[in-house]
Amino acid sequence: MSIKDLFKEKTVFSFEVFPPKKDSPIEIIYNTLDELNDLSPDFISVTFSAGGSSNNSHALDIASRLKERGVTPMIHLPCINYTKAEIEETLKQIKERGIENILALRGDITPEIPLKEDFRYASDLIGFIREHGDFDIAGACYPEVHPDADSIVDDIRNLKKKVDAGASHLITQLFFDNDAFYQFREKAELAGIDVPIEAGIMPVVNKRQIERMVTTCGASLPRKFVRIMQRYEHNPEALRDAGIAYAISQIIDLAASGVDGIHLYTMNNAYVARKISEAISGIIGA
Ligand code: FAD
Repeated sequence: MSIKDLFKEKTVFSFEVFPPKKDSPIEIIYNTLDELNDLSPDFISVTFSAGGSSNNSHALDIASRLKERGVTPMIHLPCINYTKAEIEETLKQIKERGIENILALRGDITPEIPLKEDFRYASDLIGFIREHGDFDIAGACYPEVHPDADSIVDDIRNLKKKVDAGASHLITQLFFDNDAFYQFREKAELAGIDVPIEAGIMPVVNKRQIERMVTTCGASLPRKFVRIMQRYEHNPEALRDAGIAYAISQIIDLAASGVDGIHLYTMNNAYVARKISEAISGIIGA
């Protein structure tokens, strides 16, 4: 099923999962996948490592398994570390498995992973994918500006290029401050970006995640969020419950403001996904 059509019918609710680490067997994620499938999300996206920290054939296998179990998969596809020939081969495999939906990405530029010359931006990849098959293509977007962009104006202009290249819907980077999303959505609309934008929500439910948020994520942390994290960082259960509650309150506010969809960064935690799904089932799309 093509994901872009779902937005015409409802507020989309989707999950994101990542494959096990390179040396781990794929089977360790099967229980989680089955539990997530039972929650009947509109689709599940599977990350694809630009740096090779996970096994990318696992990503394809996970997407195939989701499809076999009746859930629409979306495969992520970063491009800057791959040649055109490598991407073409991956597209062939995606097509052979009957996967129709791709999240086209540039990938992060890091000194450890050599860049290839063939693709510079996600929009280059989108054009290439369009030439090589009939896929539904999504793109990423950044309510608080992509870190490489000189300004919000440049970033939004570049986002428009991505949509013009053929991205039929967008998924945001995680954010904790809904106002940042609302301001971004307005600017995107003013720039003529008229495709659905799914809001990326990450429940922060353990101390490791808090540390990562503070050091690397770049998302602004509202005072309410910081208070919760500081208060409960040494109480794992309370932190988990408070993190879930915070994500639910974000989602309710977004749903009330007519968001096109919610993309839950599940971090492969089916318990958290279930708690959130149950809490919002009567609200999202109501
Ligand atoms: P682009 O859209 O190419 O943008 C990158 C930068 O270039 C921006 O600053 C933009 O303003 C600028 N730019 C874009 N187009 C142009 C242009 N035509 N001219 C000039 N400047 C331009 N990474 C992975 O490796 N694997 C994953 O599975 C993965 N999943 C992700 C899922 C989501 C929902 C998100 C938000 C990110 C994900 N990422 C993933 C991370 C992503 O690869 C990085 O954020 C990366 O740095 C940018 O990717 P992009 O596709 O947004 O890049």
